[in-house]
Amino acid sequence: MLLRGTAVRAVKSKGSSMAISINGAECIACGACVSACPLDLITVSDVAVIEDTDSCIECGSCVDACPLGIIEL
Ligand code: SF4
Ligand code: SF4
Repeated sequence: MLLRGTAVRAVKSKGSSMAISINGAECIACGACVSACPLDLITVSDVAVIEDTDSCIECGSCVDACPLGIIEL
């Protein structure tokens, strides 16, 4: 358990140095990125929002899922 927690923190530390972003001005709120994220970090109301960017593992699933290509890693 302790080892697992340490590993998660290491991922978070690495993730915090990157910048994932969504161009909200163009988002059509289709929800594809929400379904694609394995960590459930993205929510959609009017536009998609990444709730916890520090937890992002840079898997790229949301980038690939967006039909408009407006998510950048
Ligand atoms: S890159 Fe992966 S972990 Fe990060 S927000 Fe997108 S789907 Fe989620
Ligand atoms: S997949 Fe793209 S267009 Fe669809 S909700 Fe996510 S950011 Fe918006």
